Amino acid sequence: MSEIKTVGVLTSGGDAPGMNPAIRAVVRRAIYHGMAVKGIKRGYNGLIEDDIVDMNLRSVSEIIHRGGTILYTARSKEFMTEEGQNKAVETCRRHGIDALIVIGGDGSFRGCRALAAKGIKCIGIPGTIDNDIACSDYTIGYDTALNTAMEMIDKLRDTTQSHERCSVVEVMGRHSGYLAINTGIATGALCILIPEKSFNVERDILSRMRETQAQGKKNFLILVAEGVGQVFKIAEEIQSKTGIETRATVLGHVQRGGSPSLRDRVMASQMAVKAVELLSNDKYNRIIGMKYDRIVDFDIEDALSMEKELDPHLIEVAKVISI
Ligand code: ATP
Repeated sequence: MSEIKTVGVLTSGGDAPGMNPAIRAVVRRAIYHGMAVKGIKRGYNGLIEDDIVDMNLRSVSEIIHRGGTILYTARSKEFMTEEGQNKAVETCRRHGIDALIVIGGDGSFRGCRALAAKGIKCIGIPGTIDNDIACSDYTIGYDTALNTAMEMIDKLRDTTQSHERCSVVEVMGRHSGYLAINTGIATGALCILIPEKSFNVERDILSRMRETQAQGKKNFLILVAEGVGQVFKIAEEIQSKTGIETRATVLGHVQRGGSPSLRDRVMASQMAVKAVELLSNDKYNRIIGMKYDRIVDFDIEDALSMEKELDPHLIEVAKVISI
């Protein structure tokens, strides 16, 4: 029998489709192992404000197909302070929470590290649409967000094509170009601007537009990651320098929503079960990841010191077929 009797689960940072299936799997697997489960509301804020509910098998019924997170999520400023973290530890002790499963991004994992240093056993599960967690090839929510962005850009393409326009579209990804590069390839964007690479409007956009226009191209799609920004400015510059009517569109938060895709539901379930299995084997202060299609886990410190590079092969593919 594991020494862990009560496990807390929370979602933190930006919401991502698939967080609900992850919560569901944590609750059901933990109960299977005889653990009590407490749901902590609004990320680390719930620990500071003692906003905690008991969860049972039925608390997670009918959520596997729902986007967002039934536990709500937040970015907690107070938790960034020593005082806030101490309050969180006191709350855990008061509720008898021996271990915490945190579903979120790398900021949330830094929160895990802070709690681990104060004696709370933690496991992190990567849940963010950005796919920017270094220790994992995949993050929960990524596939749904990609498909949402692709579907919306497909709709935009219809009107861009009909009016023979240029569309400059911003997709999410503050620090990571994964969403942009993949949706760009999937929607046939002419240019994809990502935070990892500096750009030049003349070299990376205008010259490609002129070149392809000369070959008969009549509509243009330029994808821009949120971290690059400036879509309205870029659109204005394209229109003034090419004379082609150009519109900017920011897809925004709609990319976070929607029913999780099959891949996100399965990944969330696998990662969550792994998290509970680790705890049941008295292994903790780990971050779950997916590497080469296998669910793996890393020490928190190691996971946080890793860096993730955008796959150069993807960049190359985007370049050679966007003509
Ligand atoms: P996303 O990828 O969606 O942005 P994230 O988990 O990276 O998710 P953050 O806002 O960076 O989102 O972090 C979520 C919360 O984790 C913060 O609001 C804060 O409460 C906690 N956190 C972040 N960094 C630290 C840190 N260095 N120490 C302690 N807690 C932290």
